[in-house]
Amino acid sequence: MAYTKIEQYEEKVTSGLIEHYRGSIGLLGEDPDREGLVKTPERVAKAMQFLTQGYQIDPKVILNSAKFHEDVSEMVIVKDIELYSLCEHHMLPFFGKAHIAYIPNGWITGLSKIARVVDTYSRRLQVQERLTTQIRDVIQQTLNPLGVAVVIEASHLCMMMRGVQKQNSVTTTSAFCGEFEKNETRSEFIRLIGSKLH
Ligand SMILES: [Zn+2]
Repeated sequence: MAYTKIEQYEEKVTSGLIEHYRGSIGLLGEDPDREGLVKTPERVAKAMQFLTQGYQIDPKVILNSAKFHEDVSEMVIVKDIELYSLCEHHMLPFFGKAHIAYIPNGWITGLSKIARVVDTYSRRLQVQERLTTQIRDVIQQTLNPLGVAVVIEASHLCMMMRGVQKQNSVTTTSAFCGEFEKNETRSEFIRLIGSKLH
């Protein structure tokens, strides 16, 4: 076997969560001892730890781990980065795509690192607005580029399954700094990602 992926969970956290989810299932009117539900609290406990693993990871370390000196100053764009997060108000998923660009100022990073930064911030309890600016800020602080642009388009299950029940609404957020504050640069980025943003 050349590759094995090992998942690790902290015993104390897992057992605490199992206890809570057992209680929650009971409070919601179900029988936590029903055959199909017996292992559910444990599965949920592990799933939630997976979905919030971003707290354990510092995105600056990710970007610094693959930071290369390079004399390019052309816009670097990574678009259509899949994104799955949890809204902090309902702990329900929101999901969509992130489009990110920066203009290097002597330093570039591995393209996969940009996607990992998105994962790291997404796997926390979030609001889409903060997620957008956190991604912009960490790229700015770590690579010190001439500018950073982030656009996120996402659907929120808390809107689709409950509340206003708007099935097809997509929330778009954006954050720009540096060169992207100029209309011309920002328009080029928006044209290149093919977004319907105006
Ligand atoms: Zn929500």
